[in-house]
Amino acid sequence: MSELEIPPLQRGKSVGTGCRSCHAPLMVRMSNVLVDRLSASGGGGARGEADDEDEELESLLKKLRRKNLDQFKVMGLLIGKPLPQKGACKHYAHSYRWLRFPCCGRAHPCAACHEASDCPAAAMGVWANRMICGKCSREMPYSSSPCPHCGNTFTRPGDAHWQGGGGCRDQQRLSNKDSRKYKGVSATGVKKTTSSKAQRVGVAGKKATAVKRLEKAA
Ligand SMILES: [Zn+2]
Ligand SMILES: [Zn+2]
Ligand SMILES: [Zn+2]
Ligand SMILES: [Zn+2]
Repeated sequence: MSELEIPPLQRGKSVGTGCRSCHAPLMVRMSNVLVDRLSASGGGGARGEADDEDEELESLLKKLRRKNLDQFKVMGLLIGKPLPQKGACKHYAHSYRWLRFPCCGRAHPCAACHEASDCPAAAMGVWANRMICGKCSREMPYSSSPCPHCGNTFTRPGDAHWQGGGGCRDQQRLSNKDSRKYKGVSATGVKKTTSSKAQRVGVAGKKATAVKRLEKAA
């Protein structure tokens, strides 16, 4: 058996090379790349403790997302009708919307409300990517323009800035190239980077609470 060393590849581009054993011309093209997460020890064999923790967290979040699919039904909220307090909360009295957080899939009035919830990822500062209009309860991608369904402006008229806290920074305004948008955040919005000790401790506590609540609900 002969071994062929692949030249440096760029996705989608063909690179000419030759077969090392029969010298036949050969074109190599890479159409896509799959990146596996590397364990701290390398080699892909041994898995670190952090990997197990991440996996545990992901599976817990998956359960929470499934549970939270029913949030509106459980809370008796109806499309076309306003949210409780029109979406305001004790942290932001003039913010008339809820934010949907991708980690637990639950909608909260603000990031502080999310942090006070049983979501074990909230302490990691996950950003909301969708929102629910406080006036008509319709869901839409996060935006700072008025609700396309009912015209709700999400803030008290005359307020210079919309409210909602750090958890709803306007991601639309950040370009795709802006690393802040996705910094350390996986597809589900959970930070994959090593978190601080305090964060990990907070996350562990929330995880235990969430597990208990899920068990009780089951
Ligand atoms: Zn050959
Ligand atoms: Zn969450
Ligand atoms: Zn709040
Ligand atoms: Zn609306």
